[in-house]
Amino acid sequence: MMFWILLAAIVGSTIAIVYLVQRKWIAPWREMEQLVKQVGRGEQPRTFLIDGGKEARRVSVALEEILIRQRQLDRQIGERATGQKAILSAMQDALLVVDGQSRLALMNPAFQDLFGVGEDSLGVPLLESVRDPAVEQIVGETLRQRKPSQGQLVIGRREFEMTSVPMGTDNGTLTGAVVLFHDITELKRADEIRRDFVANVSHELRTPLSILRGYIETMIDDPKLPRSETARILEVMDQHSKRLGLLANDLLTLAQIESDRSTLELSEIDLLRFFNDLVRDWNKKFAAKNLKVVVDVDGDCPKIRADEARLREVFDNLLDNAVKYSNENGEIRLCAGRHDGAIALSVSDSGIGIGSEDLPRIFERFYRADKARSRELGGTGLGLSIVKHIAQLHGGSVEAESVLGKGTTIRVVL
Ligand code: ATP
Ligand code: MG
Repeated sequence: MMFWILLAAIVGSTIAIVYLVQRKWIAPWREMEQLVKQVGRGEQPRTFLIDGGKEARRVSVALEEILIRQRQLDRQIGERATGQKAILSAMQDALLVVDGQSRLALMNPAFQDLFGVGEDSLGVPLLESVRDPAVEQIVGETLRQRKPSQGQLVIGRREFEMTSVPMGTDNGTLTGAVVLFHDITELKRADEIRRDFVANVSHELRTPLSILRGYIETMIDDPKLPRSETARILEVMDQHSKRLGLLANDLLTLAQIESDRSTLELSEIDLLRFFNDLVRDWNKKFAAKNLKVVVDVDGDCPKIRADEARLREVFDNLLDNAVKYSNENGEIRLCAGRHDGAIALSVSDSGIGIGSEDLPRIFERFYRADKARSRELGGTGLGLSIVKHIAQLHGGSVEAESVLGKGTTIRVVL
C-alpha cells in the first residue's frame, strides 16, 4: 500500500515537474523560435508578449528592440538610396563607376542615355557594354597607374571632356574608378566663334591701317610732294580713318548689346511718327541717289513698346544698307503691320538684291554677300548682326527676303 502511494506521489510530482518545465522553459522558447523566424523573414509578429519565465520575457523584449532598430536602419538606408538616386538623376554630366576589373558598377541616367546602355549592363566589362575603345583606354590607364586621367571624345555630334579618377580604400587598395563625361560642345563652339571674331577684327583693322601707314611713309619720305598729291593722299587717309572709327563703333555697340541684357529702356513708340522722323533725317542721303521713299503703317497697327534709341540703331543700319545697295532712282519702303500675331517692321529696297546662297548668312558677324562691293562701300558686315541682336534683345527676330537684281526686304518681327 505504502508502495503504491509512494509511486503515485513520484509519478504525480514528475508529471507536475514536466508540466512546469514545459510551461516555463520549453513553451516560451518555442514561441521565441517562432518570433525569431518571423523577424528574420522581415515580418511584424502580432505580439512580443510571451508566457513564461522572466528570462524568456526579457529576451522577447530585446528582440522587439532589435526589430525596431532594424526598421530604423532600413528606413535610413532607403532614404539614403533615394537621395543618391535623385542626385545621380539630376546630374547633367554622365557618371560611371567601374570596379577594379573595369566592370560597370554604377551609372546615372545621363550615362545610360549617352551610351545607350541599361541597368542590365551592371557587372559587364566596359569594352563590351560601352564599345568605345577611347573610354576603355582612359579608364584602363587610371586603373593601371592609379592616377587620374583625362581625355576628349566625340559621341555623335557632341564633344565630351572625360575625367577618370581612381577610387580606393583608406589602406590603399584600388577598388575602381569614377568617370565623368562633361559636355563641352557649346564651350568649343563659343571658343571657335571668339577665335573667328578676333581673326576677323584683326583682318578688318589691318587693311585700313596698312594703307594709312603706307601713305604716312610716303609723306615722310617725300616731304615736298605736290599739293594736289598731298590733298589726294589726305582724302584717302580721311576715308580710311573714318572706316576705322565706324568699325570701332560697331564693335562697341555689339559688345554693349551682347553684355548688358537689362539695359533696354522701353517706351511707347508711335510708329508713324518714328518712321517720319527717320525719313526726315535720311532725306539728304535718299536725295543723293534720287531714291523715292514710301512710308506705310497699317491703320490697326498699335503703338509698340521698345527701346527707341536701339530701334533707331536698327533702322539706321537697315536704311544704310538700303541706300548703299540701291541703284539710282530706286524706291525704299518703310512698312509696319501685323504679321502672324506679332508686329513686323520692314525696310524694302529695289536694289541689287542678295543671292539665295548668301541670304541665310547675312546676319552673321562680318558676313558680306558681295565682298568687293561692300568693302568698297565701307561696310564691315557688322550692321545686320547688330540688327539681329537688338531684335533678339526685344524678344523678337529678323527675316530676310531677296531676289538678286530685284530688291531686298529685311523684316524685324517684334
Ligand atoms: P556695315 O553695315 O557693317 O557697314 P555691311 O553693310 O557690309 O557693313 P551688313 O549690314 O551686316 O554689312 O550686311 C551684310 C551683307 O548683306 C552686306 O555686305 C551685303 O552684301 C548684304 N546686304 C545687306 N543688306 C542688303 C540690301 N538691302 N541689298 C543688298 N544686299 C544687302
Ligand atoms: Mg550694313
